[in-house]
Formats: sequence, structure tokens, C-alpha cells
Amino acid sequence: MDVVLFSDISPHQIWIRTIGVYRLASICRKAGLSTKVLYGLTDYPPEIQRKILERYVNKDTKLVALSTTFMVARARYSGTSSLRNKYAQELLDLIKEKKEQFPHIPFVAGGGNSNDEIFSFFDHVALGYGDQLITKFATDIHSLKKFRRVVDGRNIYISDNTFNNDYSTEYHETDVIHRNETMTIEVSRGCKFKCKFCSFPLNGRKANEYIKPGAILKKEFIDNYERFGIQNYILADDTFNEDAEKLEYFLGIVENLPFKIQYTGYFRLDLLDKQRAYWKRLLDSGLRGAFFGIETLNDKSAQVIGKGFGRENTLKTLYDLREIWGDEVNTAAGFIVGLPYDTKEEFQKWADIVRAPGFPVHCKSFEPLSINKKSDISPWQSEFQMDSEKWGYKLFEKREGKYYWESPDWNYAEAAVVAEKTVQEIAEHGGQNFGSFKVQMLMGLGLSYKEAFSLIPGDKASIERINEVVSSRIKANLDRELALLERPAQVKS
Ligand code: SF4
Repeated sequence: MDVVLFSDISPHQIWIRTIGVYRLASICRKAGLSTKVLYGLTDYPPEIQRKILERYVNKDTKLVALSTTFMVARARYSGTSSLRNKYAQELLDLIKEKKEQFPHIPFVAGGGNSNDEIFSFFDHVALGYGDQLITKFATDIHSLKKFRRVVDGRNIYISDNTFNNDYSTEYHETDVIHRNETMTIEVSRGCKFKCKFCSFPLNGRKANEYIKPGAILKKEFIDNYERFGIQNYILADDTFNEDAEKLEYFLGIVENLPFKIQYTGYFRLDLLDKQRAYWKRLLDSGLRGAFFGIETLNDKSAQVIGKGFGRENTLKTLYDLREIWGDEVNTAAGFIVGLPYDTKEEFQKWADIVRAPGFPVHCKSFEPLSINKKSDISPWQSEFQMDSEKWGYKLFEKREGKYYWESPDWNYAEAAVVAEKTVQEIAEHGGQNFGSFKVQMLMGLGLSYKEAFSLIPGDKASIERINEVVSSRIKANLDRELALLERPAQVKS
């Protein structure tokens, strides 16, 4: 196989494939490179991992790349994470063995955790989107000089993050896609906003930039339906409802497909407030989940971070949406603990509103504010990260490569405890569904929206049902991977 791409996701961990490796595989195949995506290998015991690697990685292979964003290796982490990526360390050991066996092949780590020490044996690291780089890694790595910097003996490549010419992601029969899985799809890339805490690489891009041409989006929907029966989608767009023009463009395609889709995406509530004319159309077009990054109900704090819609407007829009969408669209809201001006006391004041029974969002999540150390090379940096002290945060290294913050009022560890406790309190009072993305993922494992929506986090019967469908999917994945091994050696692109 010319190119072997490892997806880092385990279905135990996240109940969906992530799109990155498939997008890169699609680009490689179009360039004439035979390409195999290996998905969920961390669920398989080492002897099976070895069998699969032996088949695809050999002396003729031109590139081996691994996505690191969601890989949690047992050797380093503990707790429930170790159960999720069950055989991650074993897989990394095997990849390392292959690298030693074939030193002429570039081994590239990509994704959000590439700098983690568990991936340090990769000589090459790609940061940002890999669209521009991937085929060159396989065919002419020296031509990537202009993207390369050498840091601590490793080659770090930073792409310019744009879509390459064709924008599309085409799946291959060897990707072992199951009928009506939930797939991720990019309608556009990047976000025109620049919230202070957010470190996505294309933040602040122009409106209407990096939008997939309509003909390509339509073709992807149709191909995925005709070849794999796909009708379930997660929209990868950082902010799906950027403006009415984009909604019009998307709905114009979806409403005219010869089949229905069901989908979930990230929305900004302040924009949705101005897009009231679209609420019913979104529902009728198959919207099943909407995630709102509300972050805080402290107006001063919201203003500072770049989400100054205000508490009153936020609550009104949520109540109005509930009237139109009811339980037909599973809504989720994300909040951050520890933003500027959100002292311990301020936080508890507004968290009471979210904790109160009847708060009109189905799933409420709380996370501690996360700030990494300023980096000279990473394109993934928030404004808080670029100048943390200006925003009132002192950073200190908790363990190698992992930075925690301290503000005059509290610190990361305290915020993490408060975040967890707040979620528990909400769950104890019965006010919590699974989040919008999780429900959409469960629909891709064979559950109807109604059944997925009815499951309750922490409930024994719900957990058993989820374990049942996840285990069955993992077994189906393995059966089909093993069946591919029975085929003649070269799997053509
Ligand atoms: S938080 Fe959301 S709206 Fe703000 S920059 Fe990030 S993706 Fe865009």
C-alpha cells in the first residue's frame, strides 16, 4: 500500500469516525496513490494489529501517518481513558517497530497532540490541516521545505490550512463504512469570528471564504447515500450558521435531495436570533441537534471573550427556540469555568440559572478554561494563549508539556472540580440528556432519533444499550477488516 493512514479514534471513545484521515485519503487516492485508512485499531489485541500492519506496511510503502488528536495511550494516562484506547500503546509500539524496519519511509504524526512525548518517535510532525502536504509527504518530501522548521531535532511542517483544489471527501469501499453510519461532512472550513479563548486555525477568516462549492457538497451527499446509505451527518463547520446566505445555500441543497438527511451542527445563538425565519426550515430539513457555545451568562465576561449577546437575549432566544423545535432538535450548551470576570462567586450566581429545572437546553456541559503555553510554531493558538498575563492568567507547567492557569481568584484545578460538580448536580436533578453530537452518533449505530434522545447519561439501562451497539459495531468493523485481509495483496485505490 502506498499510503497508510491511522485514525486515532476508538469507537469506545467517540462513536463516530473523524473526517480528517478520510479527507486526506481521498486526496491521496485522487493523486493515484493506493491508500488504506486503519480505523479503531486500538480496540484490537496486538496479534490482530500486527496481522493488519503486516499486510499494509511494507518496503514499498511511501508514507505512514497517524492522527494523534484523540489517541490516549495507556502507557501514559490512567483512569477511564485507558479503557477507551485499549491497545493504544501496543499499536504505537508496532508502528515504531515498522519505522525501524523501514527507515526510508516517512512516518508523520498529525493532529492536535502531535507534540505529546508518546509520539516523539515520529520524525515528522504536521500541524494544521494536512490537505496541502499529504501527497508530497509520500512522493517528494523535500519539496515541503518551505513549510518545514526543525525544532528539537524534529521536522515540523505547518500548512497554510486552506482546502486544496477539490474540497471533497470521497469514501472508498476499503474504508469499511457501515450502512447509514453517521458521517462528518465539511460544508465550509474555519470561522469568521475570533473569540479570545478559541484556538482553531482559521479563526477570523473572511465571510464566504473556504465554503465548499454547492455542486461538490451535493455530490458528496448523493454518493454517500447511493454507495453507503448514509443519511446521518455531523456538520464539521466551526460555526455552521455564519450568515443567512450560507443557510440558504445549504438548505437549497438539502431540501432538494431525493432523500432526507438528519444532521447536527455548531450554531452561534446570537446569529440564530437574527435568523428566526430559518428555524422551522432547519427543523423540516432534518436538523436533529444544535450545539451552542454559550460559555458564560456573565455579560461582562461574555463581552470580553467575543460573545457579547447578553444573558437576557440568550435566555429569550433559547426559550423561543424550544417553542419551535421542542424535543425534535436536541439542543446542547457548552459553558466554560474560569473566564475573565467569572470569579468563583460570579460563576455560582449564573450557574444557578443553568442548574434550575426547566432551563431550555437538553444537555448542559461545563469545562474548565484551558490555556496552553504560547508557542512559536503552532498555528492553533488563542489570544489568551498568546498573552495570558494580559488577561489575568499566570501559566505554570503541571507536568511536561501540560500547562495550568492561575488567576487572582482561582486556578485550573479548582475550575475543573467545579465544572464536574456542576454537571453532576444537573444530572442528579434529572435535567440532562446526552449532547446533540452524541445523539447523532448513536443514530449512526442504528438507534432512531427518538431512542437515542431518550437515553440518559449515567443510567444503567442506557449505558447497557450503548455498550451493546458500540460492541456490535466494533465487531462488525473487525470482521470486515479481517475479510479485506483475505483479498489478494494489493488493494487498488
Ligand atoms: S468559539 Fe466558535 S464562534 Fe468563536 S472563534 Fe471559535 S469557532 Fe468561532
